[in-house]
Amino acid sequence: MTKRRTKIQLTLTDLIDATSFCPLCLSKTKRDPIFTIQQNPLIQWLFCNECKAYSASMMPTEQFLESYYRDYYNESQTKVTVGRPDGLSRHIAQLLPENLKPTLTLLDFGGGDGTLAKVLVKRLRQIYPKTNFEITLVDFNQEKSEENNFFTFRSETRLTAVKNQEFDIILASAIIEHVPEAHQLIQELFDLLAKEGTLYVRTPFVSPLKKLFRRYPLKYPMHVHDIGPSFWNRVAERYSYPLDILVSQPSMVASGFSGKEWLRSCVAHTLKFPAHLENRFRAHPRDYFWNMMGGWEILFRKRK
Ligand SMILES: [Zn+2]
Repeated sequence: MTKRRTKIQLTLTDLIDATSFCPLCLSKTKRDPIFTIQQNPLIQWLFCNECKAYSASMMPTEQFLESYYRDYYNESQTKVTVGRPDGLSRHIAQLLPENLKPTLTLLDFGGGDGTLAKVLVKRLRQIYPKTNFEITLVDFNQEKSEENNFFTFRSETRLTAVKNQEFDIILASAIIEHVPEAHQLIQELFDLLAKEGTLYVRTPFVSPLKKLFRRYPLKYPMHVHDIGPSFWNRVAERYSYPLDILVSQPSMVASGFSGKEWLRSCVAHTLKFPAHLENRFRAHPRDYFWNMMGGWEILFRKRK
């Protein structure tokens, strides 16, 4: 989500205390406050030494988030949550391993209006012209069902609506950072993954940047977590599934080089470059010396 909003003050009725355990790993070990997001009621940005993720000390309630996102979508001209769905879909298509099943099921979790999934499937059809694709979108707003030469498309508003199904490809692009109960969400996404299925995740990771540039926005309450390589490279160990990590790297730069985006894109590429170098010369370490990459992406595959 790229749209800027003015900073809002949350009241106690909008908030749930989230200090008793880490919402990403459930550890009850005391977490260190790194930044203060808001005074009165106090909201802090906490670092978990167990799972290496950052999360807010107070989580917005479900009611608050529902009305917040309803307003957000009403104000936006488009529900797409990705700056350049075409570029991102090309990127994801290149990362995905070969899968020759006659029908591939794809779950787009939190994908706005499902544009990323639809564009991705059109690309995958070029690689697998005989494959049938079935897209399921899960997002706050219900979208119209659709059937064409490329795919069938349906939408649900809750993940529980698809809980007895399995998916060959799951997209969770820039969404986990929005969900307060993220440990449970990650469990549910692994549950929904078919054997040999792949889960693509992309999350922002800006806390190290904010330590240096105090005005760097955390985007709370839209973002309630901040998750980088040290979290993602360990996450599979906390769940009972046999998972392989196929890709773990700085996330793709979402902006292009046209007009005003030029400078932003140059800065983003520059910040990610040292981490790409580390990936190459340190053979994909769990923890990086350079953590200013701004975002991370990882591709899991469930073993047979
Ligand atoms: Zn944790």
